[in-house]
Amino acid sequence: MALIITSPLRGWAAPLDSVPDPVFAQRMMGDGVAIQPLGDTVCAPFDGEVVTLHESGHAVSLRSAEGAEVLIHIGLDTVALKGRGFTPLVAAGTTVARGDPLIRFDMDSVALGATSLITPVIVTNAEAFTITRRVTGRAVGAHEELMALAPVRVEARRWSDDGTVIEERVTLVLPHGIHARPAARLGECARRFEAEVHLLHGDKRGDVRSTVALLALGTRLGDELRVQARGSDAEAALAAIVALLGSDMGEGAAAAPAPVAAAIPAVPALQAGQIGGVIASPGLAMGPAARLNQTAIAVEREGKGSMAERAALEAARSEVRVQIGARAARGDAGVASVMRAHLALLDDPELIAGAEARITMGNSAGFAWRGSVHDQITTLKATGNAHLIERTDDLIDIERQVLRALTGAPADADAVPAGAILVADDLLPSQLVAIAASKPAGICLTRGGPTSHVAILCAGMGLPALVAMGNALDAIGDGTMLLLDAEAGHVTPNPSRADSEAFAVRLAKRDARREAARAAAADTCRTADGVRIELFANLGTVEDAKTAAAQGAEGSGLVRSEFLFLDRDDAPSEDEQHAAYQRIADALPGKPVIVRLLDVGGDKPAAYIPIDAEENPALGLRGIRVGLAHRSLLETQVRAILRVEPVGQCRIMLPMVASVAEVCAVREVVERLRGEMGIASPVEVGVMVETPAAAITADLLAAEADFLSIGTNDLTQYVLAMDRGNPAVAAGVDAMHPAVLRLIGETCRRAAAKGRWVGVCGGLASDPAAVPILIGLGATELSTVPGFVPEAKAIVRGLTLADARAHAEQALQCASAAEVRALARAFEEKTR
Ligand code: PEP
Ligand code: MG
Repeated sequence: MALIITSPLRGWAAPLDSVPDPVFAQRMMGDGVAIQPLGDTVCAPFDGEVVTLHESGHAVSLRSAEGAEVLIHIGLDTVALKGRGFTPLVAAGTTVARGDPLIRFDMDSVALGATSLITPVIVTNAEAFTITRRVTGRAVGAHEELMALAPVRVEARRWSDDGTVIEERVTLVLPHGIHARPAARLGECARRFEAEVHLLHGDKRGDVRSTVALLALGTRLGDELRVQARGSDAEAALAAIVALLGSDMGEGAAAAPAPVAAAIPAVPALQAGQIGGVIASPGLAMGPAARLNQTAIAVEREGKGSMAERAALEAARSEVRVQIGARAARGDAGVASVMRAHLALLDDPELIAGAEARITMGNSAGFAWRGSVHDQITTLKATGNAHLIERTDDLIDIERQVLRALTGAPADADAVPAGAILVADDLLPSQLVAIAASKPAGICLTRGGPTSHVAILCAGMGLPALVAMGNALDAIGDGTMLLLDAEAGHVTPNPSRADSEAFAVRLAKRDARREAARAAAADTCRTADGVRIELFANLGTVEDAKTAAAQGAEGSGLVRSEFLFLDRDDAPSEDEQHAAYQRIADALPGKPVIVRLLDVGGDKPAAYIPIDAEENPALGLRGIRVGLAHRSLLETQVRAILRVEPVGQCRIMLPMVASVAEVCAVREVVERLRGEMGIASPVEVGVMVETPAAAITADLLAAEADFLSIGTNDLTQYVLAMDRGNPAVAAGVDAMHPAVLRLIGETCRRAAAKGRWVGVCGGLASDPAAVPILIGLGATELSTVPGFVPEAKAIVRGLTLADARAHAEQALQCASAAEVRALARAFEEKTR
């Protein structure tokens, strides 16, 4: 007859695979179900006896009258709380009835100190009982059926030995004694052998294969234990168990840890001759410098009559329009979006009106166009908004394109040979797009900012780039051999032979790694010790979605929906939006697609959304504040997302949240519209963590949201009080700053306390150096630029969670972003 195990807790029943701890996820301790608790009292799952109750009060094991043994482990890493937050209500040896309370715990305080509250309920003697039925994927009440067990017919073990028992003594170095996790590892090790192995502690004896028996030994750090083995391979089994007991089993050294700071490598200073810069797109490149010297395009002042000049301007604009269309068709989605912006400038009514007014006054088409463009640049500069000022590049770009069409001046980009490293004062987006066709190896710019269009395009193309390198770059002549290290942030001109050879080896290794990563791009992503990490991609368009799917993305963690709203004169209709979201969802069939609600304002103005002039736009009406101030925009977008089929594939994410009230207000809109539209299934609503307020109240937000996703680009600018678009502070805007990392860690910890997952969708997730740190801090989803997905998966596969956590802990102790980067490089060298 089946033995019914009732749920010891009220909560959400989940498969063991979802537990972010390999001991449980890989069933080292046995099979079972995990509960994400909603209640605070653990009750007996059957009539039986309490076999062990750990002195920390975080775990209890019971044996039923039929002999089934079940362990209930409240939360992960809770042994380290040393009893804080747990109130045991029974003692080992007590006979209990199903439903009797066993342990009460303070959910908030335990959650804040634990890695997760998820509570595995494990049948530890799987050799004797098998699970025939189990509940997962839904809420369960305490005392509701969780699992049904049936006994396994066990053959009597036949020993092929002469009965000799061999023994060794060990002193326990485990900081918390043999608790559930080490017990599982010991059991797993013992099961590899035929021999019977027992552990003896004083007068207590336990079979090493039995988690419950090991827990019942009640061991502590420093205890003297005897290990006994008997059987054909007794010697090997004894040696393996003794070796395991002699280690810390990944639980952390029992001795006082060495001061963390001592292990942080020094930040390498620039060597003589090296030129430092800001990393706009990470990577390595080696090749000769190719200088891009922009020649001035001369134009006549006087025109040849306004009719002729108007016609010439019109013809030049038509020619440029065709060229832009061709570039957009050849390039990827990033290129296409820059080209769209250029088309909008080419047809900008103010620019055209300004040029026509000058032509009417007798100027030539070229002189008039240049004058009109520079009027606009003066206006943009007068705003004082660094991000808008950075966009003057696009205006200069469109100026030069039209002037070239008018005068026949040669294109700037012809001179860059394949494999060269382009060195320039600055670069215009169209120049980059044209140059990229000849396959340069990398880019070095005297000026520029890490969030400029050029930087974003380079990152999308996987082209290593350093910007803001300063005038030292002027000394680099055409043909100078360069080693471009856009991982460390410097370039080495005229390297020694030894340096070149070492760099070539690094490049070859990196290429081999990328190749291997691409080959495994479609595989699911787990750490080396089996923890599931989801690898998503950030998208703007359906083309991006197709690229992402081809690169093995498991969904999209950020659809920047503003791509539909910018560079146009009115807001897209519900139908237009719905069609766009549906196409993206269709390109990623069966995979989650997280659509971020309109994120305009601040650095992304949309002309048709009335936002008064603001002295400080980054702190003004932006992100979700815009939607809440313009409800019809918000409701149209929510309806368009809710209409996407299958319902639930598209989730909704709120940008720039600063308080819980904003989440509640949007949730109310979503639920009301869902009701009106007759949609029965729930649709997840998540929150972007981009403000320090959101990070520090992640537990409060997580109580209202289904998930959190950290936008490191904005979080960095708000934590460091450095405008992400201001080239003057570009060198300091590094999301690896320990202050940003600490807030990321805090976000993960607080969200885990409420059982919510945290992802990272900001640029830091696409930085190879940051991936191990983000995983170690507790992120379980990364959403990266599509091209980085295979490499990110490969990095995750090479990590264990314990190593990532230790590494992240060290990163939090660093004093600067530069120190964190030096630490990350040392970690990479050690682990790859
Ligand atoms: C971020 O701020 O990190 C983010 C992902 O949003 P965006 O870069 O679009 O502002
Ligand atoms: Mg943002």
